[in-house]
Order: sequence, then structure tokens, then C-alpha cells
Amino acid sequence: MHPHVVREEPAARVARAVAKGGLHRAVKAAAEKVARAKAVGPVAHAQEAPQEPAAAVAASADHPRGPNHSRAMALIELRNVSKIYHLGGEEIRALDDVDLDIDAGEFISIIGPSGSGKSTLMHILGCLDSPSKGSIKLDGTEISTASMRDLARIRNRKIGFVFQFFNLLPKLNVLQNVELPMVYAGAGSRERRDRAMEALKLVEMEGRARHRPMQLSGGQQQRAAIARALVNDPKIVFADEPTGNLDSHTGETILNLFHELSRQGRTIALVTHDPEIAAVTPRKIEIRDGKIATNVDARLAGANQGPKFIVGSARNESRYEGGAE
Ligand code: ADP
Ligand code: MG
Repeated sequence: MHPHVVREEPAARVARAVAKGGLHRAVKAAAEKVARAKAVGPVAHAQEAPQEPAAAVAASADHPRGPNHSRAMALIELRNVSKIYHLGGEEIRALDDVDLDIDAGEFISIIGPSGSGKSTLMHILGCLDSPSKGSIKLDGTEISTASMRDLARIRNRKIGFVFQFFNLLPKLNVLQNVELPMVYAGAGSRERRDRAMEALKLVEMEGRARHRPMQLSGGQQQRAAIARALVNDPKIVFADEPTGNLDSHTGETILNLFHELSRQGRTIALVTHDPEIAAVTPRKIEIRDGKIATNVDARLAGANQGPKFIVGSARNESRYEGGAE
């Protein structure tokens, strides 16, 4: 039995919403225009997984989080973010006053037990949902007050999503599924086809372009979903339990694919309760009761996993207690 609480809507609706940049949860953000903040320069795609980004070294004395958090500009900046649900008179703090910076090029896992707030954090980082309090900057733009329409556009252009249940549209073939985000972005049919095929090649699925999702294995469906997530060349890809519905061997190949994409310079955040996955990513963010833990739990972080999964240098929120790195 899978301990993870699944609240996803029916696959087809989610798939459509994701591709379109639409919402699958009600967003109550005030309908304000996105403040177009200073544009950041294009992010260079490093050949190797980044170590300490140069930006992190440039100290800014007036940064509210002090020298340890000084960065020129993170790709995503969360400040004092809370998400509060009201359920039958009870107040649930799914996220409780969270500060977090994610830099371009990082490979991260968001870990924690079921119900700790991982998916909520991902939905807020991914502009699928708005916070109850606090501010979020994505790529220099304040988005906590963006309208649903603006959020949809930002998502479509800047964010890719991968889900546990793949969420491909069953009536479309693989190529059409991968083209979908570009349809909503307004690309022409020739460009769509070319870029979708390119994305399929990246995940070694070009030979399955005309297959329907039903005709594919779980691992192949997830590859197609990853191609769809990449096709608009997003700033960051979020994957929520991407191997949770795959057997362990297939899960490992999907994990290797994310690792490879990270090596190519892409920014990736994997949401997982699985230590084997957490072990792969250089940075691990642990959520406990809606807060970011200051000490990452060594077991959750996969500190004791075999060396075949350990990659890169450890750049964690904190040191493992067991000193296993
Ligand atoms: P995780 O992904 O770590 O399992 P979630 O982010 O899904 O955790 O949930 C965090 C907490 O918020 C849980 O207590 C969950 O029950 C609650 N929660 C999440 N979504 C909703 C919602 N739409 N309405 C009410 N409570 C919610
Ligand atoms: Mg979850």
C-alpha cells in the first residue's frame, strides 16, 4: 500500500490543466497585474551539475536573511510563505512561514513524511496555487499577487510538471501530448512537431511518437510526460513522486533520466518520500509539519543508500547528523 495521500484530480483534467497552464485548485489571489520586475539575464546551461553558484558568493549586506542567504537573485524566492486550509472549523497550516531560495541549475529533492506539506510547497513553487501569506518571486517577478491568468501564462512558459500518475491525455498520441503545452503557448504546427520530436529524443521515446499512452509501459508514459514537461524549455521542472507508480527498476531509469537532465544544466526539484531518490540529489529540503527542517533526517535523505546513487557534492540544507557524506 502506498502511504502517500493522493489528492490529484482525474488524469485527463490535470493533464489539460498542466499543459494549458490552467489551475487544478482554486486560486483566490487578488486579480492584480504581475509586477514586471527587472529581467534577469539568460541562465547559462552548465555542462556539469552546478556547485556553489557564483551568485551565492556575492554577499549583499541588506539581505533580510543575512549572509548565509545572500544571493544576487535566486530563480525562486519564497519569503514568509504560509498556506492555511480551513477544514470543518479546523485550521491546517500546510506551510508555515517558509523561506526558501532555489537557484538556477540546482537539483533538489523535497522530502518529508506524508502530509508534511511537500505537495503544497511544490504547488506554490510551481504557481499552481497561491499562498495565504508571504511573497514569491519567480525569475525576478513577484507572483504571489498575480491573477490566475497571469499565473497560467507564467506556468506555461517557465515551469514543467511531472506527476506520479503521468497524466497524459489518453485520446492523444505521445507526440500530440508533448505538443500540447506549445499549443497553449501559441506555437505553429511545424515548430510544435519539431520541438516535440526533439523533446522525445531527449527521453529516448522518438520511436513511440504515434503510440497512445495506453499502449505504453508506465516507464514509457513517464518519459513522455517528462518530454511534455521539457518542451517549452522551462526554467524549472517539478516532479511530484515521479517514480511512485513504477517498479523499482523502471523508477531507477527515470531517476537516471532526471540526473542526466540535471547534468545538462536543467533546474529540477523532485518531491519524494523515498530516500533512494533523495540520495541522488545534491540538495535536500526536508519539510516537517509545514516548516523547513533545519536538520535533514539522514534516513529520509538516503544517507545510507548504496554509493551507486550518490552523485555530486552535498549541498544540503544542513549536514547529515550521521556524518554519512
Ligand atoms: P504531502 O505532499 O507532504 O503528503 P500535502 O502538502 O499534500 O502533504 O499536505 C499537507 C497538509 O495539508 C496535510 O495535513 C493535508 O491534509 C493538508 N491539505 C493539503 N491540501 C489540502 C486541501 N486542499 N484542503 C485541506 N487540507 C489540505
Ligand atoms: Mg504529496
